[in-house]
Amino acid sequence: MKKLLFAMMVASGAALPLSAQQCLVPMPREVKVSDGECRAIDGPRTEIAATIPPEGYELSITPDGVTIRYSDDAGLFYARMTLKQLREGATDGALPCVEIKDAPAFRWRGVHLDEARHFFGKTAVKRILDEMSWYKLNVFHWHLTDSQAWVLDVPGYPNLIRQGLGRSFGEKVGPFHYTANDVKEILEYAARRHITVVPEIDFPGHFAAACRAYPDLACKGGGKVMCVGNTNAVAFAEKVLDYVCELFPSHDIHIGGDECPRKFWAKCPRCRAFVEREGLKDAEDIQPWLTRHLAAYLEAKGRRAIGWEEIVVGRGKADANGESENKDGAKSSLLPEKNVLVMGYHNAAAARSANMGYQVVSCPNWHCYFDYTQQLKDDPFNYFLPDGRWLPLEEVYWFDPFEGVAAESRANIVGGQCCNWTEKTLNLYDLEWKMWPRGLALAEILWTNPDPSKRDFVEFSARAAEHRRRLIREHVNCAPLK
Ligand SMILES: [Zn+2]
Repeated sequence: MKKLLFAMMVASGAALPLSAQQCLVPMPREVKVSDGECRAIDGPRTEIAATIPPEGYELSITPDGVTIRYSDDAGLFYARMTLKQLREGATDGALPCVEIKDAPAFRWRGVHLDEARHFFGKTAVKRILDEMSWYKLNVFHWHLTDSQAWVLDVPGYPNLIRQGLGRSFGEKVGPFHYTANDVKEILEYAARRHITVVPEIDFPGHFAAACRAYPDLACKGGGKVMCVGNTNAVAFAEKVLDYVCELFPSHDIHIGGDECPRKFWAKCPRCRAFVEREGLKDAEDIQPWLTRHLAAYLEAKGRRAIGWEEIVVGRGKADANGESENKDGAKSSLLPEKNVLVMGYHNAAAARSANMGYQVVSCPNWHCYFDYTQQLKDDPFNYFLPDGRWLPLEEVYWFDPFEGVAAESRANIVGGQCCNWTEKTLNLYDLEWKMWPRGLALAEILWTNPDPSKRDFVEFSARAAEHRRRLIREHVNCAPLK
């Protein structure tokens, strides 16, 4: 039996009333309860305290009123979010008297959304940003391009957004896209909620939509991958990144890098000539060359490239269903510099990248891919079912961002995220059903409690059940817990 997290946190005080206990997700790092209640109706007093860590806050509720101490605006925002949850849990309007000291365990607490496979649009994205903000999730990873569609309007390349979107179940819809004004509107909405929007433009694989729009970007001789041997294709990538950096203030810019079949480069005359010209060993080295090139390009602009785990595979095959690691990769002279952030979607690859000294966002598929089925008794929606495995709420809850990471490398894990791939997603109600309540477990791990030995699923489930009711009251289509 695992130690009760809640009991541990309130050991020095009286037990919280049930309503207060169940209204907090993520649970603050320290909660001390005292007797009495607060019926003060004035807004909270606020004080700046430089000693409080970034995004952290202290919330003091006494019979005399509410005081918030913070050191940055995000901390003040999160204190207000905690207070909002306490108010919603206070059935007769009386707040419990508590002293809360809180700050996040990780600085990257992300939600990924694939709008290349399913375009939801501005209103839906704002809803997702609202839902994220209630649970202190602070990075919106926006997957804007893929083989099925390219949904960001880039000046000078009008064909990118003129194509319809081919869904995996045969339906042809669209075309859909975001204009610069749409993006600015979403960025402002996110910024008010202290959410950073990290755009992803996927190179050199998952690139067929760009190849359909501009066939010269693809390799000669077949294959819809970026022809890195074509100077114009590399210039295209740079111009797209110029525009993305102009539009998005995020320090981290996602350049994809996943699941690119490398065999087409070996057959393409331009890429074969490129291998000669650059003195590469063979076409396998083309992807690491591109990663290094784009990472340096972004670094010169004061930004940092982030890519899926294959960017540190180096030489060798990157297998999306395997561990995406290759022992030779560690020795390749073409591994990227440490100026990249690695997004690890398999446990072993995330840990290996961190142990190699890279900073890592961990989102292992068996804990964080919310398009995997959640094992509900009655579920109207479609999922991926890879290898017959399931991803119920409890599997998300047991996500360990430090699994396989050496003690001295733990600081390289900057956080984690859930991934909402949407090939199978029917609509917004389906998306929300897949996101919640599993997103509650993710939020709790990344904010409160990265250590699985200090978690208690039964205790968490009681709070998640309360929040399911709350989400449904807010018209969010939250799935049952089981
Ligand atoms: Zn080529």
